[in-house]
Formats: sequence, C-alpha cells, structure tokens
Amino acid sequence: MQKKIIITGGCGYIGSHTVVECLENYTKENGYEQDYEIISIDNHLNSSSSVIENIENLTDKKVKNYDTDLCDYDKTKEIFEKEADSNSEIIGIIHFAALKSVPDSVADPVFYYQNNLNSLLNILKLSKEYTVKNFIFSSSCSVYGNTTDLPVSENTAFGNAESPYAYTKQVGERMIIDFAKTSKHQKFVLLRYFNPAGAHISAQIGEDPKNPPTSLVPIITLTAAGKRDKMHVHGSDYATRDGSCIRDYIHVSDIAIAHRLAIDYLVKNEDNDKQVEIFNLGTGNGVTVLEAIKAFEKVSNTTLNYELGGRREGDVVEIYADNQKAKTLLGWIPKFGIEEMMLSAWKWQQKIL
Ligand code: UDP
Repeated sequence: MQKKIIITGGCGYIGSHTVVECLENYTKENGYEQDYEIISIDNHLNSSSSVIENIENLTDKKVKNYDTDLCDYDKTKEIFEKEADSNSEIIGIIHFAALKSVPDSVADPVFYYQNNLNSLLNILKLSKEYTVKNFIFSSSCSVYGNTTDLPVSENTAFGNAESPYAYTKQVGERMIIDFAKTSKHQKFVLLRYFNPAGAHISAQIGEDPKNPPTSLVPIITLTAAGKRDKMHVHGSDYATRDGSCIRDYIHVSDIAIAHRLAIDYLVKNEDNDKQVEIFNLGTGNGVTVLEAIKAFEKVSNTTLNYELGGRREGDVVEIYADNQKAKTLLGWIPKFGIEEMMLSAWKWQQKIL
C-alpha cells in the first residue's frame, strides 16, 4: 500500500516549506515503513507555478501538483478518485489553501468568505468520503482578536474577529469541530499560526505571492531591495513599548516541522478519543514592528526607508503565544529567532530580484 499525504496549497508560502519538510523526512531512511508520496493541490491563485520545480531541485524528488480550484467539488473529487486507488492509502490531508491577507479581506470580504470557506467545506466532505483519518487545518492567532489575555493559550476565548480573514478562521475552526462530531473515524489538528516569516535556509523557496504582499516581512525586504520606494509603520501611537503593534513572528520552517509532528501525533494517538486538538504555533516572544525593522537593518546591514504612518484597519494591537502545549504534546521546539527570520527572508528576496 502506498501511503500518501495530500497538501492543499502546496505551492504557497507555508505549503511549499511543508512539502519539503515531508519529502525530506517521511522516508524509510528516517524509520517510516516507506517513503510517503506527497501530493499537492494548488491552482496558483496566489502562488507561482515555478515553486514545484524549486522544491524538486531542493529535495531531488518528484512532486505531483494538481492545478485545481478546491471550490470546484467535482474536479477535486476527481483527484481523490484517482489518488485513492486500491494500492494507496491517503493517510492525511494538510489544508493550507486559503487567502490570508487582512487588508485584502477587508477590501473584498465576499471573495474571502467564498474562497476560504467553500474550499474547506469541499475538502472536509471529500476527506470523509475517502476515509482520510488525519486532517491538519491552518488556523491563525487572529481568532483571538484584540485580547488582553497575554500570552494567549489555546484556552483563551475567541475574540471579536477584527477582519473578514480572521472570521474565516473562526468559522473554519467551528465548521471542523461540528463536522468532526459527524465523522467519528477522523481526527483533526487545528494549528493557530502566529506570524510566519523567513524563508528556507537554502534560499530556494520563500514567500513569493502573486498578489502584492501586505505582510510586514516581505514589505521590508521589497523596500530594502528597492522594489518599493518606502514603507510605512502602520500606527505608532498604540499602547505598546514603542507605539507600534506587537506580533509573534515564527520561522516558516519551524511551522512546517509542526505539521509533520502534528500528523505523527495523530497517527501515534489513533486510539485517543479526542477528535480535535488545537495548538498555538509561535515563539512566545512579542516583537514590535519597529524592533522587527531594527533586526532587519542589523542582519542586512542596510538602512530601511520607512515612515511612521496611520493605523491599519483590522489590526490587533498586541499578540504573542503561549506555546507550551505544542512543545509538550508535539515535541515542537522552534529553532529560529527574529534575526534568522529576517536574514533568511533577505537572502530569498535577493535571489528573486
Ligand atoms: N505592518 C506595517 N507596515 C506594513 C505591513 C505591516 O507596519 O507595510 C504591520 C501591521 O500593521 C502589523 C504587523 O506589521 O502590526 C504585522 O502585519 P502582517 O500583515 O505581517 O501580519 P498580521 O498580524 O496583520 O496578520
């Protein structure tokens, strides 16, 4: 029986790093009963089609990508029909494919709800139909809203969703919890990412969205590379140590590892009654926007052209993780700090200039 893992959004930022992590580690050499086959479904809505080639060069392995929109149920079902043949077992789905920009979601909420929720519904239905036991969902710390309960633990209640994007994650989590009750043979891990940043240490893959990025780190590197004239710090009058917002930046490769550990955790705890487990993925350190900029300037030895600007709609003031649960249950230990994130992002940016 060939074991397979389906990764939706496998050409995206976190998806591509997770594909590499799985290809390099789910191997016979590493003690698994066989090399798992990794299958990506990505319609390149916000990713470049050259990513697969970069992954193959990096890992020296073949990756199959289906250029399919998960909102199209029939087309997605065709993939499952083909991959779940009598010689194969799809042991897990890691569902990344979704749009993730706070400001874009404020500008076009219908598109965000339509895309992020329809795709999730379809992939959930198919996971049940094809008896895929293990399902990992990309959630976000934005589900906590503007909380004062810091650091946030998985028990911190949902806050007011500050953007349509955040609301798609709250609804997505709730959809999975309700769905799990109707599909007892399945187990789910919801991973609440804090702020993914940085790039693979090889600089062969990194963040390369088609849409203009709205996240802090690519905006910093694009500005430093002269692709943008200047950047703005969105808000400098918040009640924080330097007036700018605080986030918990987490290296994308650390996040990728957590997905593999989450699948391992579900497989190992197959007999556990708990169907849905939630983990925060952050370093536990809050970093202000201005501190992030300073870290970048230090490792890149450049001076960034930035100005203090007004607040951005949809932003929370301050958030960072209590990551103890992921450390204890998954054995996950984030390896990289903010300077390593900035340096790897900068190396990647210079490569794709
Ligand atoms: N930010 C900024 N300037 C930019 C982009 C982002 O000051 O050009 C700030 C943003 O307001 C937030 C932090 O950087 O306080 C992280 O934003 P990002 O969009 O990366 O992630 P979010 O936490 O909003 O998902």
